[in-house]
Amino acid sequence: MNSEIITSLRWKKFSVLDHGFVCLVDVMGDDSAIVQAARVSYGDGTKKVSDDRTLLRYLMRHQHTTPFEMAEIKLLIRVPMDCWRQWIRHRTASVNEYSTRYSIALDCTYGTVPNAWRTQSEVNRQGSGDCLEPEVGQILTDNEQQFHQQARELYEQRIKQGVAREQARKDLLLSTYTEAYWKIDLHNLFRFLALRMEPHAQYEIVQYATTIGEQIIQPLFPNCWEAFLDYQLGSVRLSRLDQGVIARLAEHNALPATSQQFLEHQDPTWKTLERSRERDECYEKLQNLGLIKVSVQNSSTS
Ligand SMILES: Cc1cc2nc3c(=O)[nH]c(=O)nc-3n(C[C@H](O)[C@H](O)[C@H](O)COP(=O)(O)OP(=O)(O)OC[C@H]3O[C@@H](n4cnc5c(N)ncnc54)[C@H](O)[C@@H]3O)c2cc1C
Repeated sequence: MNSEIITSLRWKKFSVLDHGFVCLVDVMGDDSAIVQAARVSYGDGTKKVSDDRTLLRYLMRHQHTTPFEMAEIKLLIRVPMDCWRQWIRHRTASVNEYSTRYSIALDCTYGTVPNAWRTQSEVNRQGSGDCLEPEVGQILTDNEQQFHQQARELYEQRIKQGVAREQARKDLLLSTYTEAYWKIDLHNLFRFLALRMEPHAQYEIVQYATTIGEQIIQPLFPNCWEAFLDYQLGSVRLSRLDQGVIARLAEHNALPATSQQFLEHQDPTWKTLERSRERDECYEKLQNLGLIKVSVQNSSTS
């Protein structure tokens, strides 16, 4: 365990969004604690054939997950409530959250700057598209500021008039920040990071997950982090259908393929469908792998 790294990280607030942060409160274990746990199952022999890094990479590659549960981290986070709503779905963490029943809600909301208002994605019902024009964004930001102020005033009026905190809070905005202690083992943390660092996740939670990963986990668990990037975050899952498309394209010497060739050799079950999410996802995977020639998506694959 590198105590210097821990000392330098503990209680250091890494800023996220406008008023949010994550900070390390405590950590149990390091790369070698995970290796040590794994060697219980593989025995001393492992030491001879693989060094620690190789063993960790093997464990991550083959989803031998329990050794990663031997390490834990505890964070203090400040996060807007809408983002926290996604975060809290990761049930394998232990959580203790700031109580707005007991204390006055933080006077702190997540504001959006004029050039950061995102359009609804046309291809992903859960996602965002491009940013709106800054002139439109300015109006939205001005309105948002007024609305945040009104909501806070309403809350404070209620408190002043003697309304119980547990009731006064009911109209607090989802953009209000909350704080929580969040403790999780490394295996489940990597699952959280894999889901929340990937590009389709919501921008706000990506910022938190990336900060936790890059600022805290990378220095504390360098070999685990490297293996996570290589075998989880940076890996691509190819379904049997995806593999079939690649095999047919290769068989017809059509790699890299044009959009038209992709459509010709798509999975037979997608052919009759005007829209197919699975086909779109396959196209995107091939594109990311450099197996599609053009970057402009064919309309029937979008
Ligand atoms: C792109 C995306 C869209 C989403 N959309 C929605 C949505 O629309 N609505 C919504 O409600 N949620 C949504 N979620 C949340 C999602 O359904 C999961 O709750 C969340 O991602 C946490 O994943 P998890 O259950 O694997 O993690 P954890 O809760 O940390 O659990 C980790 C693992 O522990 C095991 N586990 C935990 N609890 C149980 C249990 N009770 N029984 C059996 N096994 C358990 C499972 O193997 C699980 O994979 C979305 C998530 C993503 C990434």
